[in-house]
Amino acid sequence: MTLLSVSNLSVRFKQHHQDLAALLDISFSIQPGERVAVVGESGAGKSILGYAITNLLPGQGYIAGGSVRFRGHELTSLSRREWRTIRGHRIAMIFQDMMMSLNPVLTVGDQMVEAIQSYRKVSYHQARQLAIETLQQVRIRTPEQCFYQYPHQLSGGIRQRVIIAIVLLLKPELIIADEPTTALDVTLQAEILHILKEICERNQVALLFISHDFGVISRICERTLVMYAGKIVEQGPTLGIINDPQHPYTQGLINALPQMALPGQPLNQIEGNMPSLTARPSGCAFHPRCPYALSQCRYLTPEFIYTGVSATACFVIEKMQTFNAESEVDHDTDI
Ligand code: SF4
Repeated sequence: MTLLSVSNLSVRFKQHHQDLAALLDISFSIQPGERVAVVGESGAGKSILGYAITNLLPGQGYIAGGSVRFRGHELTSLSRREWRTIRGHRIAMIFQDMMMSLNPVLTVGDQMVEAIQSYRKVSYHQARQLAIETLQQVRIRTPEQCFYQYPHQLSGGIRQRVIIAIVLLLKPELIIADEPTTALDVTLQAEILHILKEICERNQVALLFISHDFGVISRICERTLVMYAGKIVEQGPTLGIINDPQHPYTQGLINALPQMALPGQPLNQIEGNMPSLTARPSGCAFHPRCPYALSQCRYLTPEFIYTGVSATACFVIEKMQTFNAESEVDHDTDI
């Protein structure tokens, strides 16, 4: 059975007498144990998607349409009480701001024991043993010492491992990780990604990994959703998209990777900026920045088409497919 199924999800924000669209018509699914990335620049709506799935939309945000099903059960209509049995336990979250995720006045051990005893009737001694084993699983070399430390006594890399350990204790079926390694240096980032991937594989936990960085997601996710201005514009296998990006926005993101710049040359950039919620362009929202924009892109919204690499919403791809199909017909007729 599909683990998470998001269909035509729309999210809006009420702001200064305006009702602004933040997510439009988002559809995708995640199978048990599958690792899926959501990628896009800041302001694309990636984090809002994570908050919408977990019913944690900030401020005046609300779900304006569509559905979010978890193992077939609709999440958008759950009560707060029902959410308490799902959030953290069956769907867990890891955020970028590690200090916000840990209680600064409790030791790591106290927080882990509390997490274990929230769903299992075990003694403190048994919970402590399980906590230490889990700290070992996330490759903390001195788990006993870590157990008695406070969050402020730990380095950023260890704090992030502790958070992963606490999440693991709750045995979730899905982890939503929002830029979990952005604040870490490159070496620590690689280690944490490796641990997260290994743990998901070993425990058959699915992952929705939110990031702005294609380099990061290529190491951990099998499938990728590319988001722009609150919409998914391309989705498919991560390696296929990285090796042969179809949508002009995805092409721009991949071209902007540091490894794509020529030696001694500045990094490539996508001209312009992500539009704000109040200034979403009509038609294909990417048209003001798109080097291939056609006149119809300004007022029509492209539908998804399958390219063989991914599902892509772009008129140019659609035209190319039509052209190729017509050429093949002409060619057959000639023969
Ligand atoms: Fe560019 Fe038009 Fe394709 Fe949008 S639909 S990405 S504007 S070519």
